[in-house]
Amino acid sequence: MSADKDIIVVGAGPAGLAAALECHLRGHDVAVVAPPRGPRDERTAALLGGSVTLLRRIGAWDLLAEKAPMRALRIVDATRRLFRAPEVTFHASEIGLPEFGYNIRNADLVDALEACVAERGLPRHTASVDGMTIEPDAVSLRLATGGRLGARLVVAADGRRSAVRQAAGIGVREWRYDQSALVANLSHTAAHNDISTEFHTEAGPLTFVPLTGSRSSMVWVDRPDAVARRREMDEAALAGGIEERSSSLLGAISIDGPRQVFPLSGMTAERFAAARTVLVGEAAHVFPPIGAQGLNLGYRDVAALGAILPRPGQDPGATDRLDAYERSRRADVLSRTAAVDALNRTLLTGFLPVQAARGLGLFLLDRVQPLRQAMMRQGVVATR
Ligand SMILES: Cc1cc2nc3c(=O)[nH]c(=O)nc-3n(C[C@H](O)[C@H](O)[C@H](O)COP(=O)(O)OP(=O)(O)OC[C@H]3O[C@@H](n4cnc5c(N)ncnc54)[C@H](O)[C@@H]3O)c2cc1C
Repeated sequence: MSADKDIIVVGAGPAGLAAALECHLRGHDVAVVAPPRGPRDERTAALLGGSVTLLRRIGAWDLLAEKAPMRALRIVDATRRLFRAPEVTFHASEIGLPEFGYNIRNADLVDALEACVAERGLPRHTASVDGMTIEPDAVSLRLATGGRLGARLVVAADGRRSAVRQAAGIGVREWRYDQSALVANLSHTAAHNDISTEFHTEAGPLTFVPLTGSRSSMVWVDRPDAVARRREMDEAALAGGIEERSSSLLGAISIDGPRQVFPLSGMTAERFAAARTVLVGEAAHVFPPIGAQGLNLGYRDVAALGAILPRPGQDPGATDRLDAYERSRRADVLSRTAAVDALNRTLLTGFLPVQAARGLGLFLLDRVQPLRQAMMRQGVVATR
């Protein structure tokens, strides 16, 4: 089989488009395949240092009109438990940075990446992939619109239910949480002062991440029935409930745009590369929206992919390249997944020793400067 391209990226979400631009920047012949874009994704993503570096490198950063800096992160224990942790605020300036990162609307991010893909002249096929044949020296993708495309390497960026991952024979480990996230953007009367605030409650975190002006994006994790109830509430009742739960931190609140609900689940692929295929973004890993990790991890996949590619003209799907990608992603993905899962479960537990340990951990982070700095560097620097 002959390859039409060195590399074909399947999926045109924030991970896939960035992967296509990164591969192109490294001198490879690249195309993108994805169905027509769905409704605008009103979520935002808090992107940390390394993600910003990647977006700058591939040329998308300057096309983003709205990017709200996060100069501090505040954690408030809003549980009614015996062992309550102190309020802790981490300032980026403590580790010599002007900000930890920026909050960006997913829809704006995809617009900016699409514009870069068009500007570089990368072929963009509007179709779903519904089959894949793997041969020793190339992969053939079958398009739902008819026809085939061949590549030496396929980048699966087709999201959590990745058809490419399945066709490559890569299994997954999946789990569910008895929680959902209510997502909405808010306007408020009090300033957020570029501080992202996380209220920890017994049913999950309630997070406010700054947008530009007196606006924030909210992710409220709770039991599915409570989330379903809030989704149906009239605006005044929901705004009042948010204000009460957040102790009026942001003043009077109004809901800015639609509400979205996401059931919480997790998934890790059993391998991140096999059969001339590498997985990036949610095709490789999914976890709850806690601690702004998902797309940041996806952008570390993209950076790692760029780093393992051979020089143009050499085979990007060769076994030694796939093995290098697998080695470079395994520890990072597994450790982040375990950390987010553990943080979520310590919030939910009614087990007193765990509550006490969590309270003590936050107490130490509040008081012990070297520990605070190490934790902040780990959070930001690990994304470089
Ligand atoms: C409530 C919430 C808040 C979040 N907040 C943050 C945050 O603050 N920070 C952060 O880092 N992360 C955050 N995340 C995670 C982040 O949103 C995801 O990691 C990210 O959107 C995944 O992007 P992706 O490109 O991997 O997948 P997707 O956006 O799902 O894109 C998949 C693409 O593949 C295409 N596709 C699907 N099937 C096929 C097929 N068969 N053939 C061809 N194409 C196909 C789709 O059309 C789409 O273009 C959050 C997640 C949630 C749920």
